[in-house]
Amino acid sequence: MCTEVIRHANGKINLTLDVTGTRQDGYHLVCMVMQSVALGDEVRLCKSTAPGIHLQMKGCDLPGDESNIAYRAAQALRVSGVSIEIEKHIPIAAGMAGGSTDAAAVLLGCNELFGLGLSTQQLCEIGLKLGADVPFCIMGGTMLAEGIGEELRPLPSLRLPEGGVILLARPEAFVSTKEVYQKLDAVCPKDHPDTQGMIQALEKEDYPGIAARLQNVLEEVTIPMHPVIGRIKEIMKEQGADGALMSGSGPTVFGLFSSAEAAKKAAAQIREEKLTDTVILTEPVR
Ligand code: ATP
Repeated sequence: MCTEVIRHANGKINLTLDVTGTRQDGYHLVCMVMQSVALGDEVRLCKSTAPGIHLQMKGCDLPGDESNIAYRAAQALRVSGVSIEIEKHIPIAAGMAGGSTDAAAVLLGCNELFGLGLSTQQLCEIGLKLGADVPFCIMGGTMLAEGIGEELRPLPSLRLPEGGVILLARPEAFVSTKEVYQKLDAVCPKDHPDTQGMIQALEKEDYPGIAARLQNVLEEVTIPMHPVIGRIKEIMKEQGADGALMSGSGPTVFGLFSSAEAAKKAAAQIREEKLTDTVILTEPVR
């Protein structure tokens, strides 16, 4: 049995996000195409002689106690004598599933470290109780997610043209995911993503078709609350993004660029206009 496991916990973006209804318990039913990105947290798990769960966060001031979803992931597996270190790179509360991916890495890592022998499906079931995005983060890649996010179907990965990049920009706006979903019920969005068209575009490796179909119904709620998101999208498009969209409930915006030069110019303008300093170049991962 090994004594140390290191996992890279990828962030995600939404190529589409649609809300199709509400469950009786109040959870919203979604239909979304999720894509893992290379930007991720580094998660290191070691066996420890001290009983219990010891979680240390680096690069952020999140506590390493029960309020941390990564801690709760270890608890859910009932492991003891584990020391976890997470170096945070994914912006927090940004619509990039930062917490969910840490939880997924802890579930996968503990399963390996302690030789628990749980199947991916079992880990996804445990993960779903921690958060709706955790099963996707366990699987990674590109997925159609339905239900509350737990019904996953693998899709061909987003492929950028040679030399292409994804630009991420996270403005300092505070977005409450709960509030966004609550307000969506009042807005009742008219424009829904063409999810089937997006799936076909991915299957055909039709990059222009993918870029043209980026759509997120939650923008209708979040952008009026935080116009900075709309301005960042505008800048990305003016600077040559083939498409730009808010990820999840926001506030992170991503742009698909065929040229890294154009993406760097967009990043420079976003900084110059003092919209945010958190601008990151990344790429899709399969
Ligand atoms: P999603 O895209 O799944 O809706 P998000 O990217 O918007 O999630 P997270 O970064 O997961 O948001 O953070 C949501 C909240 O969870 C934060 O306000 C933070 O306090 C809390 N949290 C608990 N544990 C973590 C963790 N390990 N990493 C990030 N946030 C965490």
